[in-house]
Amino acid sequence: MRIAVIAGGVGGARFVRGLREAVRRASDIDPLAGAAIDVIVNTGDDWWLAGLRITPDFDSMLYTLSGQNDEQRGWGRVGESERVAGELQAWGVTPEWFTLGDLDLGTHIARTSWLRAGETPSQVAARLQQRWELGVRLHPATDQEVDTHVIIAGDRGAAAGSREIHFQEWWTRYRAALPAAGFVQHGVDRAVPSEGALDALLDADVILVAPSNPVVSIGTQLSIPGMLEAITAEPAPIVGVSPIIGGASVRGMAEACLAAIGVAVDAGAIARHYGLRRDAGLLDGWLVAEEDAALVDGLEADGFAARAVPLWMRDLDTAAALASEAVAFALGLSS
Ligand code: GDP
Ligand code: CA
Repeated sequence: MRIAVIAGGVGGARFVRGLREAVRRASDIDPLAGAAIDVIVNTGDDWWLAGLRITPDFDSMLYTLSGQNDEQRGWGRVGESERVAGELQAWGVTPEWFTLGDLDLGTHIARTSWLRAGETPSQVAARLQQRWELGVRLHPATDQEVDTHVIIAGDRGAAAGSREIHFQEWWTRYRAALPAAGFVQHGVDRAVPSEGALDALLDADVILVAPSNPVVSIGTQLSIPGMLEAITAEPAPIVGVSPIIGGASVRGMAEACLAAIGVAVDAGAIARHYGLRRDAGLLDGWLVAEEDAALVDGLEADGFAARAVPLWMRDLDTAAALASEAVAFALGLSS
């Protein structure tokens, strides 16, 4: 069996690590046994800083799946130091609100040098994965640069006005607290899905939408011309996992992103925002948290296959259990 996952950074990586674990634990008679996992990773948060290409969601995947991540902090490399970062900030090359760790800088320098040598982001991503045994294949959603900017709403406080700032500045510097009126994906019109993403979708038996930020992680990928069509063209069942539990995002600031596009912070609202595949949307099925079990009937009435399951990925066991629920649910839809 082949499983394709559409994912963002931290939430996506936790889910994919759980899926990989579920495959590893599967007994011979389990359909998950020996399953291949392809992950289509968001590139909308990528940016240039200090002359380096930074790809936060891809690196969250790479570090989490290789065990190089800082589990305590929730992002970046374990055992990280910030000597170079201090120098870069002293030189005024990087802003004080964005720290690039020394080990992390190693990744960015390697990536940028390969890009400068003429390799595509997909080729660079393939190289970066060779260092560790990840057990899954990661594909950038697109090889074209798509830059997410945030339209700052209103005129509250000195920092606001009717203007646009880079998503990273809004997210990291302002912690998504500046009211946003929407997002603009510069370059998205010229973007196409990467070959790796298209191949993964073409071959998939099951397609899973990770519990990632619906707006800036999943939404950005869906806005790449041809991506939604590629995801929904094949008969493989498409099941999404809600990143919202009981009306709040878990370990994230997705609320501010949802508010900016006028979608309620509610597992049912997100499913309806993604839409049903048969109505030119994305989903066949949607997993909500047990806390949100009351939403299931309404979703089913609207045509979604829906089920309430434990959605908290507290550790590897709970993440693996969630991932295998998602696959079993999807397989149930295809038969
Ligand atoms: P980012 O790109 O690093 O922001 O990460 P993602 O977009 O992949 O995921 C962020 C989202 O993951 C957040 O909005 C959370 O709602 C969601 N998330 C994080 N941990 C969990 C969890 O344990 N369970 C579920 N269901 N969602 C989670
Ligand atoms: Ca992200």
